[in-house]
Amino acid sequence: MEVLESVRKRLEGVCWFEGRYVDPPEGRPIEFRGPIDPSVPDVPVIPFIEGDGIGPEVTYAAIRVVNAAVRRAYGGARRIVWYEALAGNKAEKLLGERLPQQTIELLRRYKVFFKAPLETPIGGGWRSVNVALRQMFDLYANIRPVKYFPGLPSPIKRPEAVDLVIFRENTEDVYMGIEWQWDSEEARKVRRFLREELGVSLRDDAGIGLKPISRFGTRRIARLALKFAVENRRRVVTIMHKGNIMKYTEGAFRDWAYEVAVEEFRDHVVLESELPQYGGQVPEGRILVNDRIADNMLQQLLTRTSEYDVILSPNLNGDYVSDEAAGLVGGLGVAPGIDVGDFHMMAEPVHGTAPKYAGKNYVNPTASILAMGLLLRFIGWREAADMLVRGVEATFAAGYFTGDLVRQMDESERARVRAVLGTQEFADRVVEFVESL
Ligand code: NAP
Repeated sequence: MEVLESVRKRLEGVCWFEGRYVDPPEGRPIEFRGPIDPSVPDVPVIPFIEGDGIGPEVTYAAIRVVNAAVRRAYGGARRIVWYEALAGNKAEKLLGERLPQQTIELLRRYKVFFKAPLETPIGGGWRSVNVALRQMFDLYANIRPVKYFPGLPSPIKRPEAVDLVIFRENTEDVYMGIEWQWDSEEARKVRRFLREELGVSLRDDAGIGLKPISRFGTRRIARLALKFAVENRRRVVTIMHKGNIMKYTEGAFRDWAYEVAVEEFRDHVVLESELPQYGGQVPEGRILVNDRIADNMLQQLLTRTSEYDVILSPNLNGDYVSDEAAGLVGGLGVAPGIDVGDFHMMAEPVHGTAPKYAGKNYVNPTASILAMGLLLRFIGWREAADMLVRGVEATFAAGYFTGDLVRQMDESERARVRAVLGTQEFADRVVEFVESL
């Protein structure tokens, strides 16, 4: 942990908390002119939650890389003032709560922030702070690009074919947490209601959860995915669902997503069902919109990787597919995400707190670096975002890796390894490459 302390100090003051948050001496909040339309000052204040487990190590490593990329891209004309927001174990220890009201107000005020992973116990204990933040700020789109960097270990033969952007609905589905333990009064009431009002009998020891998926929620994430596909000239948008079984939730998700494609993007898309009219070929300049059943799609991602491009899915499927996709290109240690709402954004790595590696300076910080890169891209600082990605790419290409990546490599992949570095030393190399661009 000594390394971490020295990194923290080198970051020149990131915490203005003295019993309450106090304004940092410089910088202004990012504001929104309209939905997903941020107005960014040259010196924005960006809060970050350092997270639990490996969170602090990867967060401070990533902040150093972002600072280098911003410096290199704008030569001092733009700068980020980082502002630590307390949540998770650290907040519990200092303030007696995992998500204190003061932190909520701080994040509400500054609108765009980074969050490292936070611990959630399984099957009991406190409710997920991650999920609470997504719901509180209505961060309805979880966007996860998954792209291969040459040199990374991969279990498939052609990892270079992996270039996906996953749009996962983020506020509905079983993640709403509407569920009751089997022996609770609520579960008894729901079972009785189902039996007496709807003629549905459940076992007396059945726990119950609800899976709401709405037309409103589906249409807005579908709109965002299709808009992204059009603006970035992508090839295919695939709606991932299990609508053959869950007809009125996942099946409806599929139907509503197609509805948006046809109603709002007619000139840009062709549906798979329309292909016979075009001799089986996607017309030049159009995006193919198709759908696949989730279980089939999870295996096709391995066997027919290049057929997938932009993936649009309800919440639970999106969680599964993004971890699988990450596994194709080096694993969770290199998978970033950003949660986007109309007036707030939260960048985060896909991985959790990986407690067994906490404080060991072992895991790769790339997921957090790239998540912060997404944040830069979404606030319009594209030059810095590009520098950061090129820095990471150059670091891997030069043969610098961390132990978590090297252990996944076969002999031929290992031959390209020049050095196995710790978390902070890996970030040092990325900073050097960014500075040399
Ligand atoms: P996890 O922390 O992501 O760890 C699962 C495994 O993934 C690790 O044991 C490790 O595999 C690998 N891994 C994770 N992060 C890595 C990294 N940066 N570099 C290399 N390998 C990495 O998931 P979990 O064990 O299911 O959950 C642990 C805690 O994190 C739970 O409290 C959970 O609720 C929380 N969580 C939080 C978030 C979030 O904040 N968004 C997301 C997921 C989980 P090996 O064992 O093979 O080394």
